[in-house]
Amino acid sequence: MSLSDAMADLLARVEALSATETVATFDADRRVLAQDLVSALQVPPNDNSSMDGYAVRVADVTEPGKVLRVSQRIAAGHAGSPLEPGTCARIFTGAPMPAGADAVVMQEDTIEVGGDIHAVHIQAMPEPGQWVRRAGEDVTRGAVVLARGERLSPASLGLAASLSLAHLSVLARPRVALFSTGDELVMPGEVPPEAMKPGAIYNSNRFFLRTLLQRMGCEVSDLGIVPDRREATLAALKTAADHHDLILTSGGVSVGEEDHIKPSVQQLGSLDLWQIGMKPGKPFAYGTVRRDGGAGADAGLACHFIGLPGNPVSSFVTFLLLVRPFLLKLQGVPADRFHALPPATTLPAHFTVARADKRREFLRVRRNRAGGLDLFPNQSSGVLTSTVWGDGLVDNPAGTTIAHGDPVSYLSFADLLA
Ligand code: AMP
Ligand code: MG
Repeated sequence: MSLSDAMADLLARVEALSATETVATFDADRRVLAQDLVSALQVPPNDNSSMDGYAVRVADVTEPGKVLRVSQRIAAGHAGSPLEPGTCARIFTGAPMPAGADAVVMQEDTIEVGGDIHAVHIQAMPEPGQWVRRAGEDVTRGAVVLARGERLSPASLGLAASLSLAHLSVLARPRVALFSTGDELVMPGEVPPEAMKPGAIYNSNRFFLRTLLQRMGCEVSDLGIVPDRREATLAALKTAADHHDLILTSGGVSVGEEDHIKPSVQQLGSLDLWQIGMKPGKPFAYGTVRRDGGAGADAGLACHFIGLPGNPVSSFVTFLLLVRPFLLKLQGVPADRFHALPPATTLPAHFTVARADKRREFLRVRRNRAGGLDLFPNQSSGVLTSTVWGDGLVDNPAGTTIAHGDPVSYLSFADLLA
């Protein structure tokens, strides 16, 4: 199966969750808006000064150097009184324009008149509207400021706050049960290196998968390490299915005797094992696990299941390319608001790939100062160092060699993690 077919197939099997909740705007970063935000007010609420200076009536400044008496002082957060003709108001950034004033002359374009009366020379002739921020120039009343399905960002939280919204209605977070399979796995912190049994390795997938899920806005139940035994696998799947939208596992999806995921998921639901034409990341599984219990919106629905390969780089790359779009759709981001595969940048390869691979390959690379890409020397799917050294992937079509200087398609981890 090609990666693009796998992506399309996977997306076709998932629908957006329907549950919503109300959260504090402070806590809404990366959450998905459940309804359009229609502004009940205008921002800014009134005309105000964008400079420290003097608010004037343009008609009063008949010539450069004209002297106007300073009849009031208006600071931000304080309202002035209507501007008397022939006078000006000392005004500060953000302060509301007094009625009658139609421009601001910045402080640098004025000279104070010495002596007892407080007055200034207006050195430059103002244009009407100069240095005035118009009421509603940011947001007009009734405007849809943020649309349903929008994934909130720090800037959108600020915008929501400017509309007086301290709470926002957002779609429920996907509930994801995560577990790692493999008898060889040991948790760091539990066994020191010198006490590790032969063949044991530390569980690295658990750390990046949990973090990636959290970054994607999921509520993660980490079920830890499930040993390579049928009963243990069945038990973990059963417990997880009832209260989660997705079960995500790593390892055990090949078809060896020690790979228990396939028969276990098949026993409790259905499973398709996909051999995806991509490198790293060939074995990948999608299925569903029936729910015994499950109330409310969950009743009758099966839980999604995704089995990632065990090799760390395969696990990492298949998460970014396949699980990420799946989760975006599950959490309610409309199809036209995200790219399953972010747009690639074309950059010159400062390396060679002499032997073409049968599969579409995702090479770990890093941008260099000369504007090209360097290749991590070891592209093995077990070498996690390549993903830390690299800042992205080259998407190299199947059967393609790369000569030094060839334009290649670069996908940054930053885009794939956004
Ligand atoms: P599997 O898909 O279970 O056959 O695993 C493939 C390879 O990935 C084996 O070398 C495993 O030891 C390794 N592996 C599986 N799970 C993990 C994990 N959670 N952390 C680190 N390596 C893993
Ligand atoms: Mg295994």
